[in-house]
Amino acid sequence: MRADQVDVAVVGGGPTGMMLASELRLHDVDVRVLEREAEPSAAVRSLGLHPRSIEILDQRGLLGRFLAAGQQYPGGVGRFAGIDKPAPTDLDTAHGYVLGIPQPVTDRLLAEHAAELGAQISRGSEVTGFEQDEDGVTVDLSDGGRLRARWLVGCDGGRSLVRKLLGVGFPGEPAKTEWILGEVQVTAPAAEITAVSDEVRKTHRGFGIGPAGDGLFRAVVPAATVSEDRSTPPTLEEFRAQLRAYAGTDFGVHSPRSLSRFSDAIRLADRYRDGRVLIAGDAAHVHPPLGGQGLNLGIQDAFNLGWKLAADIDGWAPEDLVDSYFTERHAVADDVLNLTRAQSELISPEPGPQAVRRLLTELMDIDDVSRYLAERIAGIGIRYDVGDGPALLGRRLRDIRLTGGTLYELMHEGRGLLLDQTGSTSVDGWADRVDRVVDTGAELDAPAVLLRPDGYVVWIGGGRDDALTMRLALERWFGVAVSG
Ligand SMILES: Cc1cc2nc3c(=O)[nH]c(=O)nc-3n(C[C@H](O)[C@H](O)[C@H](O)COP(=O)(O)OP(=O)(O)OC[C@H]3O[C@@H](n4cnc5c(N)ncnc54)[C@H](O)[C@@H]3O)c2cc1C
Repeated sequence: MRADQVDVAVVGGGPTGMMLASELRLHDVDVRVLEREAEPSAAVRSLGLHPRSIEILDQRGLLGRFLAAGQQYPGGVGRFAGIDKPAPTDLDTAHGYVLGIPQPVTDRLLAEHAAELGAQISRGSEVTGFEQDEDGVTVDLSDGGRLRARWLVGCDGGRSLVRKLLGVGFPGEPAKTEWILGEVQVTAPAAEITAVSDEVRKTHRGFGIGPAGDGLFRAVVPAATVSEDRSTPPTLEEFRAQLRAYAGTDFGVHSPRSLSRFSDAIRLADRYRDGRVLIAGDAAHVHPPLGGQGLNLGIQDAFNLGWKLAADIDGWAPEDLVDSYFTERHAVADDVLNLTRAQSELISPEPGPQAVRRLLTELMDIDDVSRYLAERIAGIGIRYDVGDGPALLGRRLRDIRLTGGTLYELMHEGRGLLLDQTGSTSVDGWADRVDRVVDTGAELDAPAVLLRPDGYVVWIGGGRDDALTMRLALERWFGVAVSG
């Protein structure tokens, strides 16, 4: 291929774009990430990863480096609207904790992984437009350069140019409140900061200030107005004025590492694809950071899309495989947005929402209630519609012990996997796409399961009469069999 021609151009080198690039590289797809900024952002937006994202890292052999850089908080799983009730300790996952890790570290580790796998990463490369035809997309860059790609994926964040140029609808609710987020040095003593923060939070849950490492403090305070353009950062003076307005003091904040704005706008794209152009991550959905879901959703979008796009490029994708990305992930984002709406109501200081919050706090003492909420926040309760069948069908399989290791260790290459305890199945015809592992000692309550590369169960069987249903599942997800 020529240097100005790739299989997939990924616009945006945030967590979604880097995860997608890595997934594509597992299948030898020629991918270029086009990132506008010359240097990675130092702003700490996301503070952590939920169990499903942690499982994904484990499935790709990446978890060790994330664990080394982060901190595990078992009590943080499923925290709903900040209500301080721990989730059940026996959730259906081998990773029942939140991994505290600042977003710049997550972004760096994902970028390193993509580069190690051979993704081309062009920083300081802004996409200004594109045109698509039947065979591909021609991408325009701000330096006058052009790139030709078979597919283009906009992972370019909430203000996505790709989404706008496609004319994709982005319905939802506009911002009603805006916050300023600052990482700053302070002159006030830490004990005084904690005492003031605790007091203000009794009436304003949208306010907070606390240590952020490196001698800095991270402070969030409501802004005076909702801006037209949140890409313009606030001034230090504006930040100080808002701190004084809410806390009666500005804590002597100075020397900011970063100052940014975010809002409670909630929007969901009504399409994720137009021809050969797709969108993923914040480009497809935005919501306030309550519950800490955005980055997690983006990583999981990329994990869902990567293998499907690679299958199309490799020529074996069954009809509708790429479109199942929208069907599956739009429904998940819709659900997360609704959860966020509910949490936004519950942090309101008004008496009505406060009464509902007290009631929910009591209900969360019931195991089923806290389990239900925790599974949704953790992303481990998702069930894709892959047909009718046992409860496990359509769900991701947690990591389980096998005779000589664990299930997730077998998934590092991002291939399909038939885990068989009977020895009676076969993947002849699909062996170039699907591994078959016979293990009679697996910790699995089914004779055999077929897993997609993203770990979701698309077939359960293993009995004498199940050969036909297995063949249909292989065809549905892995295309036609090849002979020889
Ligand atoms: C205060 C705050 C706290 C948050 N906390 C959490 C949390 O705890 N947990 C969580 O999961 N999420 C959290 N989030 C959300 C999280 O930060 C985002 O959901 C996540 O960064 C989205 O990743 P992304 O890759 O889709 O988009 P982004 O991270 O926005 O990356 C998009 C990239 O595209 C680039 N780009 C844009 N336009 C172009 C162009 N034309 N050409 C080339 N490049 C372009 C940008 O420079 C950027 O690098 C928080 C957000 C905020 C604001």
